[in-house]
Amino acid sequence: MSKKVPYVSRETVAEIAKTYPTPFYLYDEKGIRNTARLVNQAFRWNKGFKEYFAVKATPNPYLLQMLKEEGCGADCSSLTELEMSDAVGLKGHEIMFSSNETPVEDMQLASKLGVIINLDDITHIGFLEQVAGGFPETICCRFNPGGHFAIANSIMDNPGDAKYGMTRDQIEEAYRILIRKGVKHFGIHAFLASNTVTNEYYPELARQLFELAVELHRSTGADIRFVNLSGGVGIAYRPEQKENDILAIGEGVRKVYEEVLVPAGMGDVAIFTEMGRFMLAPYGALITKAVHEKHIYKEYIGVDACAANLMRPCMYGAYHHITVLGKEDAPCTYKYDVVGGLCENSDKFAIDRMLPKIDKGDYLFIHDAGAHGFSMGYNYNGKLRSAELLLREDGSVKLIRRAETPRDYFATFDFTDDFPKLKQY
Ligand SMILES: *Cc1c(COP(=O)(O)O)cnc(C)c1O
Repeated sequence: MSKKVPYVSRETVAEIAKTYPTPFYLYDEKGIRNTARLVNQAFRWNKGFKEYFAVKATPNPYLLQMLKEEGCGADCSSLTELEMSDAVGLKGHEIMFSSNETPVEDMQLASKLGVIINLDDITHIGFLEQVAGGFPETICCRFNPGGHFAIANSIMDNPGDAKYGMTRDQIEEAYRILIRKGVKHFGIHAFLASNTVTNEYYPELARQLFELAVELHRSTGADIRFVNLSGGVGIAYRPEQKENDILAIGEGVRKVYEEVLVPAGMGDVAIFTEMGRFMLAPYGALITKAVHEKHIYKEYIGVDACAANLMRPCMYGAYHHITVLGKEDAPCTYKYDVVGGLCENSDKFAIDRMLPKIDKGDYLFIHDAGAHGFSMGYNYNGKLRSAELLLREDGSVKLIRRAETPRDYFATFDFTDDFPKLKQY
């Protein structure tokens, strides 16, 4: 059981809302820093360990900078993510570039910045050579073993249906080609299951990748410098779930490392991770206000945020715990659908959720929205993206992204004078 406790009180939110109206995202500096430190502690046994935060989870330069201060790098998937990582001062091998269906400009920027490029496919060897005019000394290849990914007979995910990575034969062939092209150092990367809530995922993945590393080193002679376990370490979105223990996970990976890599004479291979969700999800909340209530065939509470601010419930049916601030200890005796204002019936943050009686004006703290939350936002129905705020360790609040205004929404019409009124909003 992980008790879901908000990191702000109703009073604090009411105070913040005087300056920054709801809805807004609020991130918790203390939780983010503590987690980054714990991750580094968990893998301290590995000399070259580095966590490359998956920028797509929460692309905000203030948060990236904070993680950089804690020793993390960035994992980017696109041009703008590379630009943001560059802007916070991450350099060269502090950035991984794991893209797929990669546009020319993205690959060129990755090459220019000298980041570690993770090739998603064997055909990207020719693509990289063509668009960047050559190869860096160090390159990573993404592996997809196909089939199912299972732990103790229980299927976690289906890599065979995933579009990413190279087959076993292809990755070996890719290494041979790259060696001929002059590449000196190699990495292996795979992402085989998402949001895993078990301490066994990384160790099992590590075993597969370590064994592959030994085989590839023996068959091709490649100098393998790192194994990137990528993301996929999950969090307990539901209070009844058991949280992952990152120290146990690090220890599990260490055991496999000593079993597989050390005896093969590969005890200097660095471990990389690219966690997004585990690093940030619990330390970001969407805070929204109850603005309407409606009693028809069901009981509805309408809030001022919607799926355009947090898409996961609507898109995946994902559970996000909700706390009604100021009513933490009140009995959950009312059954509500908590809904946003999109013209989409799937715009529901909660369905048939037992909650305390909600009154208009109550603030709802939607938990675990710190990763894949704001970043998946969109502008459907002309809805505007909210602000992002950071709750500092000293209790102060810093604006780290302002809310969009209609002018932002209309900004891409700036080439035309056909509708002059749009410039006035
Ligand atoms: C999305 C992604 C991650 C992060 O995944 P989480 O589930 O947030 O840990 C890491 N690496 C790659 C390549 C990804 O696409």
